[in-house]
Amino acid sequence: MPHPLLTVEDVSKTYDGFKAITKLTFYLFEGELRTVIGPNGAGKSTFFDLITGRAQPDVGKIEFGNHDLTQLNEYEINRLGIGRKFQTPSVYTEHTVWDNLVLSLKGPRGVFASLFQRLSSTDHDRLDELLKLIRLDAKRHWKAGLLAHGEKQWLEIGMLLAAEPKVLLVDEPAAGMTDEETHRTGELLISLAGKHSIIVIEHDMAFVRQIARDNNVTVLHQGSVLCEGKFEEVQSNPKVREVYLGRGKHGNR
Ligand code: ADP
Ligand code: MG
Repeated sequence: MPHPLLTVEDVSKTYDGFKAITKLTFYLFEGELRTVIGPNGAGKSTFFDLITGRAQPDVGKIEFGNHDLTQLNEYEINRLGIGRKFQTPSVYTEHTVWDNLVLSLKGPRGVFASLFQRLSSTDHDRLDELLKLIRLDAKRHWKAGLLAHGEKQWLEIGMLLAAEPKVLLVDEPAAGMTDEETHRTGELLISLAGKHSIIVIEHDMAFVRQIARDNNVTVLHQGSVLCEGKFEEVQSNPKVREVYLGRGKHGNR
């Protein structure tokens, strides 16, 4: 078995006695596109909080390469190349699409330097490519605040990519999207697989079906892994059907 890029072993996290994450074990391998599903309150966003240093585990191991992430803060973990996209888009609404990408470039630039210094031609070409990838090429001069909800989500994925992360954590990207936007988002994530290592949290089953490949769906329930496998296996698993029965379609954050 190859060495995992990200290792989460026997991790638990309680909030005021409430077990948000219980003995969670999870491995992500290089180039993988993994989908994490689970009912509301299953601990999916908390799982991302723990990886990104927004929350600290009570016990357990979280490692990225040789780095022990439990000893690092949010900023340090981000600098190692772990980028996270929250459910609600947070773009700079008064800046153009292009400037939003420039502001997200990797490296210790201030906002002023980012916007007023000339970009290297390498950076320029890379952002041009990115704009095409997120299909906002024609809207590069638009203020980000004028974009449709789905387009803002894509811009934010583009901003994550501009920072050249090794791991991308994407929380419910399809929430609030039209079916067509959802499908396009799926295509975008599939096109990133292989080049990036990605974990996508999602509720929308049509979307999960679209992006699921080999054994890459993990079901979380009450803070633990309920099952892991191919989409079809997971979907027909009686335990999974039980926890999903009668539940709402979308998460709360
Ligand atoms: P999901 O994303 O799967 O819907 P969450 O990870 O957001 O679930 O939440 C799992 C549980 O942990 C919920 O009951 C939530 O209220 C609780 N929780 C998450 N973060 C915190 C926090 N910072 N403080 C207190 N409780 C929290
Ligand atoms: Mg959530």
